[in-house]
Amino acid sequence: MLQLNVGISRWQSMYPDVQSYSKTCDVCQRSKINYKKSMLPLNPLPVASRPFQAIHIDDKTLPRTTKQGHCALLCCIDAFSKFPIVTPVSDLSAVTSAKILTRDVISLFGVPEVIVIGDLVSLVPCSRN
Ligand SMILES: [Zn+2]
Repeated sequence: MLQLNVGISRWQSMYPDVQSYSKTCDVCQRSKINYKKSMLPLNPLPVASRPFQAIHIDDKTLPRTTKQGHCALLCCIDAFSKFPIVTPVSDLSAVTSAKILTRDVISLFGVPEVIVIGDLVSLVPCSRN
């Protein structure tokens, strides 16, 4: 009579083995998508103790250019009171932003000690419209 030795075997360390193999595999390492966002260290913003001691500046590009030629909004917000000053602009260049800041903020409320700029990359002429 034929007797079969059939046994069930498990690869006990399959998960760590696959993990260690894939960590050392050059192809896997090169094709792997890094889902971890690179986090910059957070630096807390200074807390304002009086109005217009610190302002935050950012821009919002409009979906289309207005009849007046404005393609974006320049937003200045007081850090103390959250008072917004929103000005439509025809371009987001550094010169235009500085002129608007001087005319609408500094001439009315004085020079702020801190200016936090939201996105330096956006200080370019509007080109989408
Ligand atoms: Zn691999």
